[in-house]
Amino acid sequence: MNFQSVEFEAAAGRADQLKKSDLPEIVFSGKSNVGKSSLINKLVNRKALARVSATPGKTATINFFRLPECRFVDLPGYGYAKVSQNEKQRWAKLMQGYFDAERNVALVIQILDMRHEPTADDFDMINFLIERDLPFLVVCTKSDKLNKTQFNTQNAYFEDLFREHEIPFIPYSSQTGFGLETLKQHIEAAVLG
Ligand code: GDP
Repeated sequence: MNFQSVEFEAAAGRADQLKKSDLPEIVFSGKSNVGKSSLINKLVNRKALARVSATPGKTATINFFRLPECRFVDLPGYGYAKVSQNEKQRWAKLMQGYFDAERNVALVIQILDMRHEPTADDFDMINFLIERDLPFLVVCTKSDKLNKTQFNTQNAYFEDLFREHEIPFIPYSSQTGFGLETLKQHIEAAVLG
């Protein structure tokens, strides 16, 4: 699959602005600052297609990127404490609008920070994906920040956590590219079947 021929297509701040769903969609979800933009940029080998933000919580739109065989859908990062109640409600409506629209979701990539236990918001998102029976996997990013012992401990923790629901998880680093090929294989399999 060609990951490098990619262009920004649209940003939707409200559910009625969502792009028509006429291609398989690879959806990226995670809390603010987890490394979602860095991951998208790494996948498509661009420096700044998805904005790596200095201010967390700024991306409050669903952004669509067009590739030859699929679309990347960048969901707004959640869990940023300084966001107003109004903004949180708009975010929830937008997300609901997206997932209620019977879209062609080929795979949701739920991103977690490998160094930490998932937050309550992370668990809400994961449980939502399980309840909706959406195809998803977990990418544990920033693995380069762990030494070998810490890596093994966290790896065992996440393996244990996701065993019951058989959720695949991939230790990953945007810094070193660790896990990138594995992730690309999962995306390819989801898009091309
Ligand atoms: P987003 O808010 O989820 O889109 O997160 P960003 O991609 O903007 O990343 C937030 C911060 O984490 C930035 O300073 C990135 O350089 C850093 N970062 C992202 N991924 C990694 C990674 O795999 N390893 C390391 N060491 N830093 C990362």
